[in-house]
Amino acid sequence: MKKLFYIDYPQENIEGQAHSYRCAFCKVVTTTINGKLEGHLPTCTYRIQLEKAGYDAVGATCEMALHEADDFD
Ligand SMILES: [Zn+2]
Repeated sequence: MKKLFYIDYPQENIEGQAHSYRCAFCKVVTTTINGKLEGHLPTCTYRIQLEKAGYDAVGATCEMALHEADDFD
C-alpha cells in the first residue's frame, strides 16, 4: 500500500517564518519532507502510525501481499 503523497500529517507554523511549516511530531520542515513518508524521521509518530497501518516508506512489498491475497480463493 503506497500513497503518492503523504501530506495528511499535523503541521505547525515555524515561529517567525510566516510561510514555513513543519511536522508537529518530528519537527522536520514540510519542504524537506516533500510529501514523502521517508521524509519524516524514523521516530516520527505520524510515520510510525502509517507504517503500522501498512503504508510503505520505500518499496512496494505491501502491494505484492495484496496481490497474493487476491489469489486466495
Ligand atoms: Zn513527522
